[in-house]
Amino acid sequence: MRGKRVVVLGGAGFVGSHLCERLLDDGAASVVAVDNLITGNEENLRTLNGRPGFEYVKADIVEGIPVKGPIDYVFNMASPASPIDYAQLPLETLRVGSIGTENGLKLAEANKAVFLMASTSEVYGDPLVHPQREDYWGNVNPIGPRSVYDEAKRYAEAITAAYGRSRGVQVRIVRIFNTYGPRMRLNDGRVVPAFVGQALKGEDFTVFGDGSQTRSFCYVKDLVDGLVRLMLSDEPNPVNIGNPREMTIRQFAEAVRAAAGGGGKIIEKPLPKDDPKQRQPDITRARTLLGWEPKVPLEEGLKETIAWFREVAGRKSAP
Ligand code: NAD
Ligand code: UDP
Repeated sequence: MRGKRVVVLGGAGFVGSHLCERLLDDGAASVVAVDNLITGNEENLRTLNGRPGFEYVKADIVEGIPVKGPIDYVFNMASPASPIDYAQLPLETLRVGSIGTENGLKLAEANKAVFLMASTSEVYGDPLVHPQREDYWGNVNPIGPRSVYDEAKRYAEAITAAYGRSRGVQVRIVRIFNTYGPRMRLNDGRVVPAFVGQALKGEDFTVFGDGSQTRSFCYVKDLVDGLVRLMLSDEPNPVNIGNPREMTIRQFAEAVRAAAGGGGKIIEKPLPKDDPKQRQPDITRARTLLGWEPKVPLEEGLKETIAWFREVAGRKSAP
């Protein structure tokens, strides 16, 4: 990325802001974060603002992307990402995945830039194949509560592949599995901020259903490394990026309790409709094509995440 000009759509979000930092650390000449803050936060840009080469443009990418060339790379990270966010923003989620993604592709085409689409393990839906390999086509309810996200991402993959095939745009597609780390929103409803918040306040852990459903959690630093490697590869087909260490949600609650040194008992709450029963990435393609695999153990990543949530809580209660 040294000397390059990079646009990060959704750059004020959790993953996008870490990506912008990594790009500048790698010597990018210019990093432009485009974001309408619908689920992101200007606070995420605190350490970026003022860094040479960094620029923030407030814009809704559905309306257009007001960034001038030259541009070498476009990362499309823009989309509500937590189940609560996309349930509250159904049309915004469909539009950013469809119209917003096409606007990003047009920007890449006009500038002969490489375009990376941040897709998701949700394209596999409630998977009937386990672990999930990229050649599995998924089990998605097209009209269920999660469909606004899942189908928007499936469409985004389709239009990204189509621009690659029919318009000669260089494209990359990453299927991101559950990722966690500093800068997640405490109230975004995802399990990591929910359990960490509960542990820090000594509250009970709200496990949805019986907690036997599984997830595999990847630390954000590992994910960002995978994104950069994929962008710099010449691989147009989808690549899973995630941590294959799978656990039940009950086990995850215990892991958070151990890392935070607190939290109440486990209480069961209703399981949301269409909540995937199991999820674990097969990362053979990432290993062989990108030489990538996750490095940060869950215990270490949780410590960093908990320390960050503690610091934010301290900042908020400061006079
Ligand atoms: P996030 O909500 O923190 O970040 C998304 C960013 O996109 C936000 O800053 C938001 O304001 C911005 N955005 C949304 N719609 C926009 C629009 N129309 N115009 C401009 N900006 C817009 O979520 P995140 O966890 O950082 O996720 C980043 C990307 O990675 C998303 O595309 C998400 O689908 C994908 N992803 C994340 C995970 C994960 O576990 N974090 C897993 C799978 C996929
Ligand atoms: N979950 C939970 N308690 C919570 C929040 C989530 O048990 O307070 C469960 C949720 O039902 C799902 C898993 O944790 O099975 C991961 O949820 P998250 O919203 O983080 O992401 P998902 O993988 O479902 O998109």
